[in-house]
Amino acid sequence: MTNAQPKASHFIGGKYVEDTAGTEIHCVYPATGETIATLHAATPPIVDQALEAAREGQKIWAAMTGTERGRILRRAADMIRDRNRELSELETLDTGKPLQETLVADATSGADALEYFGGLAATLTGEHIQLGQDWVYTIREPLGICVGIGAWNYPTQIACWKGAPALACGNAMIFKPSETTPLCALKVAEILYEAGLPAGAYNVIQGYGEVGAKLVTDARVDKVSLTGSVPTGRKVYAAAAEGMKHVTMELGGKSPMIVFEDADIEDAVGGAILGNFYSSGQVCSNGTRVFVHKAIKDKFLKRLKDRTEAAVLGDPMNEATNFGPMVSKAQMDIVLGYINKGVDEGAKLITGGKPADRKGFFIEPTIFANVTDDMTIAREEIFGPVMTVLDFEAEEEVIARANDTQFGLSAGVFTKDLTRAHRVIARLEAGSCWINTYNLAPVEAPFGGVKASGVGRENSKEAINHYSQVKSVYVAMGPVEAQF
Ligand code: NDP
Repeated sequence: MTNAQPKASHFIGGKYVEDTAGTEIHCVYPATGETIATLHAATPPIVDQALEAAREGQKIWAAMTGTERGRILRRAADMIRDRNRELSELETLDTGKPLQETLVADATSGADALEYFGGLAATLTGEHIQLGQDWVYTIREPLGICVGIGAWNYPTQIACWKGAPALACGNAMIFKPSETTPLCALKVAEILYEAGLPAGAYNVIQGYGEVGAKLVTDARVDKVSLTGSVPTGRKVYAAAAEGMKHVTMELGGKSPMIVFEDADIEDAVGGAILGNFYSSGQVCSNGTRVFVHKAIKDKFLKRLKDRTEAAVLGDPMNEATNFGPMVSKAQMDIVLGYINKGVDEGAKLITGGKPADRKGFFIEPTIFANVTDDMTIAREEIFGPVMTVLDFEAEEEVIARANDTQFGLSAGVFTKDLTRAHRVIARLEAGSCWINTYNLAPVEAPFGGVKASGVGRENSKEAINHYSQVKSVYVAMGPVEAQF
């Protein structure tokens, strides 16, 4: 029996805090279905305690120099790297993702964010604008208290991608993980304090959507950054607008990946596998609509099927496993529902299509071909290991079809024709794009969507604009010339 019980449910004001009056949250290991920890949702007094701690912590944190803040964030990054194996195992227990993935993609990505924004902290300055004798200077100020609300697919990464830029700019953060994966953010908080963060600057409270909603509507909160689905994004954005709060919305997608007839087939197949089956397909930016030129369709599908059927599905703690379960029974049922719809609507099942024959929430990696644009599996975000392959013949045609969606998170193009690659990418309505690869998201590159897929950008220097505001100060050096 695995036990991943944390010391307490919440981390507030630099320490673990419990309030057993809150609704129970059962953390289930997706590979076996066993409950590995029981936590409690934040009660109103816990939410209040976090907000007060954040208010106090933010004052102390913002009063420090950027160099001091950066040093603490970079120290936390080093500590995360030192503890990568332990943190990766916890991420695997929290999400079910194979250890082979979590060892390289989760704590390490969180550490990258802390290191990158820690490095930027000392360089965040305003500017000087000379106006003859007079002048204007600007001050880059923190926003105050930022709320981060996470999805369940990347609990460590999301806690850091939101926390690192927020803290670099001198804000405090209250992070609410998805109740499906409540464990990893607590570790991030613990490490930040060990690295020297003042009490209250980064807090984690657990809860269902209602705890998130309570935070979003509280007058003490200045900014909300959500990673989640489009329907939740609409609700959170509307609630934040009521209080005129800043927002970052990292939402879902149904992204196109276009494979032209001159593409390197092995690379294109590799991109399609990376962009559909990593994390068992539970990745927002996945290229789930794979448009393949008719001339290479058969060749592409053959290699895709062969390579997909070589996936090693099994115990996520075994480092040879490269394909894990869905995060929950609920998500498994949603995905199986979509697979049934694909079959009912006439798509051709190439491989997979059913639960794996073992305990836990496993679904075989699934590929549909002969998919048409109007099918449900080509229109809605499935968030599971279901790839749809669509045929095309002409560049104009595929651009129009790729853009015919409410979403605009990501897009990819595979071709050896340099000019075509840039011409097509320029016309795709998406925020995060790739040429001849897919789903790489280094902290140096802006990440986020257009259209219904989001507002604002995470990572890169862009994120600084979303966690700070500019004050402009006009300084007069001469007499005041009034009109009368
Ligand atoms: P949800 O939208 O269901 O939930 C996201 C978070 O919002 C959860 O913590 C949830 O809490 C919380 N929440 C729900 N309702 C409210 C509310 N009214 N007010 C405040 N908070 C609320 O997403 P999932 O967790 O199911 O994650 C999957 C989705 O996330 C997919 O659509 C995926 O594309 C998207 N995603 C986007 C990414 C990006 O960067 N663009 C990256 C990763 C995922 P609770 O879980 O308790 O309901």
